[in-house]
Amino acid sequence: MFENLQEKLQRTFKNLRGQGTITDENISEALREIRLALLESDVNLTVVKATIDHIREKAIGTQVATALSPTEQIIKIVHDELVEILGKDTAKFKFSSQPPSVILMAGLQGSGKTTTAGKLAAWLKKGGHRPMLVSVDVYRPAAREQLAIVAKSVGAQIYIGKTGDDEAGTPLVERLAKEALREARNFGNDVLIVDTAGRLGIDTALMDEMSKLKALLNPSEILFVADAMTGQDAVNSADAFHKQLGITGVVLTKMDGDARGGAALSIRNVTGAPVKFLGTGEKPDAFEPFHPDRIVSRIMGMGDLQTLLERAEEKLDRGKAEEFAKKALSGDGFSLEDFRDQLRQIKKMGSMQSILKMMPSVGPFQGLQQAAENVDEGQLTRTEAIINSMTTKERLNHEIISGSRRKRIAAGSGTSVQEVNQLLKQYGQMRKMFKGLGSGGGKMQRRLMSQ
Ligand code: GDP
Repeated sequence: MFENLQEKLQRTFKNLRGQGTITDENISEALREIRLALLESDVNLTVVKATIDHIREKAIGTQVATALSPTEQIIKIVHDELVEILGKDTAKFKFSSQPPSVILMAGLQGSGKTTTAGKLAAWLKKGGHRPMLVSVDVYRPAAREQLAIVAKSVGAQIYIGKTGDDEAGTPLVERLAKEALREARNFGNDVLIVDTAGRLGIDTALMDEMSKLKALLNPSEILFVADAMTGQDAVNSADAFHKQLGITGVVLTKMDGDARGGAALSIRNVTGAPVKFLGTGEKPDAFEPFHPDRIVSRIMGMGDLQTLLERAEEKLDRGKAEEFAKKALSGDGFSLEDFRDQLRQIKKMGSMQSILKMMPSVGPFQGLQQAAENVDEGQLTRTEAIINSMTTKERLNHEIISGSRRKRIAAGSGTSVQEVNQLLKQYGQMRKMFKGLGSGGGKMQRRLMSQ
């Protein structure tokens, strides 16, 4: 997501850096490029105009000397302005004081509403909540079945209810909603997520039904789920929904597929409703709260180490990491068994591509984000397969892995002898590097102590 904008802004800043001093002329040139970059990223025209005006005003007013160089000042102004249009602070997720809190999911068909209901349940569970799901889409039995599958996959409770012989329509919707609320109360669920019927467009029947559900359930959140790939259509439908119903936030799905990101950058400014979450893939954990400052850092090429650290904190086993570091730096090196452990830890963090994309693209990290494009995700799996095909003895002492053993390992892992050779070579280099780091650290420590 945001790849286009990111690339263009970085080029603009690079050009500015190359110029040494900032003049009115090159500021104008930079503003022109930023404007184009925003437009090409499908950001709403009014938002683009306002943003450029603000940046110009601030840039002109900031000729005073500060600790920052003029180029850095401009970068900071653009950064702050983008954060501003995204709504500055992270919009909080609201719970009601009287549980269960009801979350009403709204959106057009195919926007990713049902998938998102499941993702939200998984996210809430991680936060220690006990969500219950219910689908009140009484028009499409398949939709209700889909929610049941989603609920199962994230291990969340679901209220199915009976549609009976009632005629599908708003009264049935209301009955199901009321029953689910009672059920959630009885089971002690503190959140009830209500998946509603999606329609092809915003029509009066849909709005009527949503208004009735709103009145009946008094939800603490009404989340409008919009497909980011539809660009300005997503912005317009969110706007229409907000005007008619009053939503509390937007979830933008399919951000993984939208390289432009214009919808994410426009919604807050156009509708007044904040983006609260992003959907970044089909899996239940491809979901993240929307933090304006972190998103802008990503766009500006400063990476998003904060999110990466949080992900590491959540997924990784700290004890294991410390043990590994000790072993690797101790001088005896680390075994292929430890190497495999590390690979498994990395895999838990998500795809290599998603990890690399959160790295800054400046300074010592330069090139990592671009490297993400060429990452062969299968490589990790193949490497693990090769190590799996070794015996424990071999994993603990790589030196015994002779030519015939290499052949056996290649056949067992469905790879080639070259790949096995390459892995062993890389492993050898890593051992050496870690050893060097370890003894270097020791020397440094001794030197410090002798002073
Ligand atoms: P609904 O009709 O609004 O309930 O939409 P669904 O939840 O059935 O989703 C429609 C399609 O979009 C499904 O194939 C989902 O797997 C897919 N989808 C949902 N969210 C995302 C996302 O964040 N990224 C991607 N790539 N696909 C998504």
